[in-house]
Amino acid sequence: MEEMSKYWSDTVRNAIPYIPGEQPKDKRYIKLNTNENPYPPSPGVIDAIKRSADGSLRLYPDPDCTELRETCAKYYGVGAENVFAGNGSDELLAFSFQAFFNPGSTIIFPDITYTFYLVYARFYNIDFRLVPLNAEFEISADDLARENEGIVLANPNAPTGKVLPAASIVKILDSNTDNVVIIDEAYIDFGGESAVKYIDQFPNLLVIKTLSKSHSLAGMRIGFAFGQAHLIKGLDRIKNSFNSYTLDRLALAAAKAALEDTEYYSETSLKVIRTREKTTEELRKLGFYVVDSAANFIFASYKDIPGEFLFKRLRDMGVLVRYFNKPRIENFIRVSIGTDEEMEILLNAAGKIVCEK
Ligand SMILES: *Cc1c(COP(=O)(O)O)cnc(C)c1O
Repeated sequence: MEEMSKYWSDTVRNAIPYIPGEQPKDKRYIKLNTNENPYPPSPGVIDAIKRSADGSLRLYPDPDCTELRETCAKYYGVGAENVFAGNGSDELLAFSFQAFFNPGSTIIFPDITYTFYLVYARFYNIDFRLVPLNAEFEISADDLARENEGIVLANPNAPTGKVLPAASIVKILDSNTDNVVIIDEAYIDFGGESAVKYIDQFPNLLVIKTLSKSHSLAGMRIGFAFGQAHLIKGLDRIKNSFNSYTLDRLALAAAKAALEDTEYYSETSLKVIRTREKTTEELRKLGFYVVDSAANFIFASYKDIPGEFLFKRLRDMGVLVRYFNKPRIENFIRVSIGTDEEMEILLNAAGKIVCEK
């Protein structure tokens, strides 16, 4: 535990912050620990950033991100009034928790999911109940049919990579019409069907996406939220009570170019998917249990070897992955999908560890 400063507010004292995967500086690793894309952003994105790096940076960016929202709306077949743009989807999640969940109310989310949901809930004094995934790390619409004042689901889920079919999402929405349902689609471009097409039908549906994973822009911090205009206006009110300019001029230009380069990104996503399937197969041949993944990472265990042990041995061999010191998943590691060459190195290292055992 960090030492408390007497100058800290109660909010700071009580916060239990998220711990991001490390960005190592000590040596070069094969970095498979934070689900970054192994391929660079499209040349069009780099050009757009360079073209924006001029004297206009003295001016504030467009607080409403109008041009970007229009491009995004066209790309996803919705109206610009249905799109909110923000500084990474983490920020959009933080805004959404504040915009749609009351302090003291009870929201529900799976027991194994993106840790940030827990962090935000605690930070905003929102109560939460964890809905357990089954032994195969699955959840059904019926599991979520319990009283709640909000639902948050990652689809595909993290860190498991499991995806819920669109029919289940509709069922969840059908049985929860009074409270906001947030679907976090950070990994949807690697598998599964987006729920954006349901926003007209469900006034309580908010879908969140990011350009960090499938569009290779984790370093740029760009995310989108999709929903009916009243939800988007709610997010606007939060944003404008906090920071009117969350996307800078370079990010606005990069995001627009990324959305326009559809061909490039379908290709890199397809490459990641192929590498994921191949790696899954090879790890299974080595005797690993690997969850079927619809994301750009895989979740795997080897008998009852602790994830921490696998993590450390792999780290010694120059490969960074993630492990979770949490009940039910303490024997698992989460491995981001890299290039074929990087996965070859991972598989060799995993093979060595298995041999030692
Ligand atoms: C990576 C991730 C995010 C955060 O994405 P940013 O846009 O980079 O903030 C949100 N949700 C899930 C489930 C993620 O895995």
